[in-house]
Amino acid sequence: MFEFWIQTDWYIAFVMSLMTNLGVYFVAAYLINHLTQKITQNNRLGQYIDDRPFKEGQKISEIKNGVFACAVFSFVSLLARELFVGVIPVSITQLLVEVLLFTLFYETYSYFVHRLLHTKIFRKPHSVHHYSVRTTPWSAYSVHPVEALLIAMSAPLFMLMWPVHLGVIFAFHILGVVFTLLIHSNLKLNGSNIFCQLFNRYTGSHAAHHSIGNVNFGFVNSFWDFCFKTKYIDSKALESKSAGLD
Ligand SMILES: [Zn+2]
Ligand SMILES: [Zn+2]
Repeated sequence: MFEFWIQTDWYIAFVMSLMTNLGVYFVAAYLINHLTQKITQNNRLGQYIDDRPFKEGQKISEIKNGVFACAVFSFVSLLARELFVGVIPVSITQLLVEVLLFTLFYETYSYFVHRLLHTKIFRKPHSVHHYSVRTTPWSAYSVHPVEALLIAMSAPLFMLMWPVHLGVIFAFHILGVVFTLLIHSNLKLNGSNIFCQLFNRYTGSHAAHHSIGNVNFGFVNSFWDFCFKTKYIDSKALESKSAGLD
């Protein structure tokens, strides 16, 4: 399938990317949303972090923005089509190096881009994402096209600096989409095992970002948040009603 996508006309490649992005977004968001509703029934297995009512028309506008974001991701995938060095890494070492370097690059890139989005210049486009104060998986890609472009450009920019295989970028993208949907699930699990603790740390951290604003900009870890003192852990913060961008 990769071989066909690489060699076919750009508009066919675009349609294939769009179908893949939309498919993953709709199926994963629906399943995570459905599971979250089941888990929070009677608060037995878990509960919502933020239970404020949704804004009027929130879900419809989130889905509309998500579809546009998928279109932007698909356009940018055409750039990745020009920059890859091969389809699959030839050794485990090569795979591990690409995964490690891209993870480090993406964590740094996304932290500083997110800080940039909270400056005066990008305040307006980023307010599209912060319209969702109580989030659901559908909120994950409710972003302005400019923000979608900044997110999507991470892969081509990295590919300009380091030789990367298409399969690695593709796997990162799909896992990244699912991870982003999960951290917007607004779900706190009741269990105390390591999985529940880790899950709650991620969802709680991003829920605090939507609830408070200028805290917890990190994506996969909090390294840069600790360095720049933007880490916020206090669960009481979630009771704050001063939502949105500061
Ligand atoms: Zn933000
Ligand atoms: Zn968010």
